[in-house]
Amino acid sequence: MRTAEIRRRFLDFFAQRGHTIVDSAPLPIDDPTLLFVNAGMVPFKPYLLGQTPAPYPRAASVQKCVRTLDIDDVGRTARHGSFFQMNGNFSFGDYFKAEAIEYAWELITRPVADGGYGLPESRLWVSVFHEDDEAAGIWRDRVGVSPDRIVRRGIVDNYWSMGVPGPCGPSSEIFIDRGPAYGPDGGPEADEERFMELWNLVFMQFERGPGGGKKDYPILGELPAKNIDTGMGLERMAFILQGMDNLYEIDETRPILERAAELSGRPYGRGGDTDVRLRVVADHIRTALMIVTDGVVPGNEGRPYVLRRILRRSVRAMRLLGYGDPALGELFAVARDCMSPSYPEVAADFDRIREVAVAEEEAFDRTLKQGTGILDLAVKDAKAAGHTRLSGASAFKLHDTYGFPIDLTLEMAAEQGLEVDREGFTALMAEQRRRAKADAQSRKTGHGDMSVYRRVLDEHGPTKWLAYETLATDSR
Ligand code: ATP
Ligand code: MG
Ligand code: MG
Ligand code: MG
Repeated sequence: MRTAEIRRRFLDFFAQRGHTIVDSAPLPIDDPTLLFVNAGMVPFKPYLLGQTPAPYPRAASVQKCVRTLDIDDVGRTARHGSFFQMNGNFSFGDYFKAEAIEYAWELITRPVADGGYGLPESRLWVSVFHEDDEAAGIWRDRVGVSPDRIVRRGIVDNYWSMGVPGPCGPSSEIFIDRGPAYGPDGGPEADEERFMELWNLVFMQFERGPGGGKKDYPILGELPAKNIDTGMGLERMAFILQGMDNLYEIDETRPILERAAELSGRPYGRGGDTDVRLRVVADHIRTALMIVTDGVVPGNEGRPYVLRRILRRSVRAMRLLGYGDPALGELFAVARDCMSPSYPEVAADFDRIREVAVAEEEAFDRTLKQGTGILDLAVKDAKAAGHTRLSGASAFKLHDTYGFPIDLTLEMAAEQGLEVDREGFTALMAEQRRRAKADAQSRKTGHGDMSVYRRVLDEHGPTKWLAYETLATDSR
């Protein structure tokens, strides 16, 4: 079943059950606590927190998400994309636990011929919060899940809260057993790659009071209006229904992976670093495409830096695969064809999007060309001296002189078996910032010696500041 079809079935199912279908919010949402939307509930926060009355009692959406926290897992686990789509249904003081559980189960197990996903009950497990007898009872008595498939878990895995004071409550998850080839038996407690989480149901039931820690905060009482927030990973469902091994192999990413394999002449499926790199390319190219589509351009901090890092990681992966020519323009075009059926704006705005990617690849190639030799030398020296770490001074020089972001130095040093003295690097960065501040201060107070500028001004007249035009593409 194609990903677009899985998405359509989800929205149809919940529309038929009285849910208002809401479009995905853009990835860079206006929320000071987040760089990017990272869950389906984010755009509904004001309703869930009770700040604004919800305009509908129940809603469903397919929300674009970026999780920077998961970036290092990309390509290594089967289930973590840096971009993914979260299918969610929400109740704002309307239905609660029993309906949320029954809806999810019905859609997952209903035969494909009847509009469902047709997963066999024999492969499904569920979890509940250990004190949530109500949820356990619903799973057992109303849904008919065998008690040995209902796992009780603690506050870390199965409890949710937001804000103090704010809503909180237990959660319940549905897992699929991918089979013995993927890990040991024993349910999600034993192995979350084999027993993969598909759908997370949050029951916003109580009000959390002030004080307490992460795990032992006071509960003020039941919420007057209880809410439901659920999230089903679209890509996870897609790779299961498409019979694939992981979410980088679905119809929305596989063509990117295959194109990267073709360009580099490194076929996919033989395991090892090559497979990881091809999966990273497939994931990162699509993520970058979606972020650029939503208006972000590469830069040195915040959202722009996340984008820059993702673009540069995909370029590096291509170079490590042995492909030295520009690749992003072409890979982006493949990603466009994968995503435009569900996101037509990707195709409509493609010339601009492609240009952003191509320019970043060019700039990064220049940086790499300058810095790689210096890094290799520093690594060689460190090893010759019997060190296991690259000095903070080397990392700082690479950053300051050659535009190597510290992440890149960390990654490239790790590939050669070295750690980096991060504290040393951070101290030098702080020192540099102090100096820059002192400089700025002296300019402001006029204590700096400005006579040299005076002479230039007298000789040549006022000058025009051109650094942004001539240096901008060289920035790190
Ligand atoms: P996991 O424990 O497997 O990392 P999670 O508990 O972090 O998942 P939630 O925050 O509960 O995930 O998100 C709801 C759903 O979104 C998950 O059940 C999963 O199907 C999907 N999901 C979460 N993170 C990712 C990701 N990085 N890539 C793809 N799908 C994801
Ligand atoms: Mg997670
Ligand atoms: Mg989880
Ligand atoms: Mg979860």
